[in-house]
Amino acid sequence: MRRIEILSPRLANQIAAGEVVERPASVIKELVENSLDSGASRVDVEVEQGGIKLMRVRDNGGGILKDDLAMALSRHATSKIHNLDELEAVASLGFRGEALASVASVSRLLLTSKPSEQSEAWQVNTHGQDMSTELLPAAHTDGTSVEVRDLFFNTPARRKFLRTEKTEFNHLDEVIKRQALARFDVGFSLRHNNRTIHSLRPAASQAEQERRVAQLLSPDFMQNALVIDAEAVGLRLTGWVGLPTFSRSMPDMQYFFVNGRVVKDKVIGHAVKQAYRDVLYHGRHPCFVLYLTLDPSGVDVNVHPTKHEVRFRDQRLVHDFLFRQLHRALAEVRPDTQPDSVS
Ligand code: ADP
Ligand code: MG
Repeated sequence: MRRIEILSPRLANQIAAGEVVERPASVIKELVENSLDSGASRVDVEVEQGGIKLMRVRDNGGGILKDDLAMALSRHATSKIHNLDELEAVASLGFRGEALASVASVSRLLLTSKPSEQSEAWQVNTHGQDMSTELLPAAHTDGTSVEVRDLFFNTPARRKFLRTEKTEFNHLDEVIKRQALARFDVGFSLRHNNRTIHSLRPAASQAEQERRVAQLLSPDFMQNALVIDAEAVGLRLTGWVGLPTFSRSMPDMQYFFVNGRVVKDKVIGHAVKQAYRDVLYHGRHPCFVLYLTLDPSGVDVNVHPTKHEVRFRDQRLVHDFLFRQLHRALAEVRPDTQPDSVS
């Protein structure tokens, strides 16, 4: 007869990590989201060997107090929500308090931070089965650095699923692209094996933003894109959509953000597809970078741990708004459009 026992903290975290930490790219996503949530205006990412060997994310955000450092690495510990009302109106990217604990349980993690109200920086790392931490003084300017080494070193079954350095890097680069597209007000840099891949200053003006999009996606996209800027029924849609003549054989240049969060959603996908239906050849895919903004209470982001899905309170409203705005913009450039179909 086997007795019932509580899982050790590390094992419990490793199980939870199965949901959140799939590969280096998922770690980068969580770490950069934390930097953005901390109010950083700069996020610098450095990785080695596709992130498998090393990932380092440094920001100039609000930081973590010395007394909270160890807590940041424990599960269900968050500064972002404290009650159900806050969950329902959550505006931060994180709120589950799981990411750092999960990552720490499957890597060698070092967390260093200095809030501006504290005169010195402190550092924690985790070790041992029980996730006990060690607190040490450190050198760091205002902000936080998280260093993650040897991902999955202690979970060989997971490590086996990692692909080549190049594939892992491509996934990770895609994450950075999305985040850089989501936050024009933040400067980003990405270095891989000591080579600079991206170096992006905050982009305030429309021209600077378009330059960033061109840099991240392709200059061709920007030259073949329509500007979208529409507002109705409490919804706002901005961004760029590719002309029907600038389509792709793969749906690999499609970025949709809901309240600053990257989203893949059936309702959105359907509305965009419908809008392009009459203007794209069969089998071709449109390109777009679109931003939908609405009241946070109109959308539920608490659907999935990696949060790529959302649930709109009024799906039909969102669908019809998107379809109408995109259809109208595309109709204006369609050569065969009859005047009465442009409204
Ligand atoms: P969540 O983001 O869901 O709260 P995490 O495990 O990602 O959970 O982070 C736990 C907590 O650690 C956060 O709530 C935040 O208080 C703190 N934290 C993590 N990363 C940073 C950072 N880069 N800057 C400031 N605080 C951070
Ligand atoms: Mg987080």
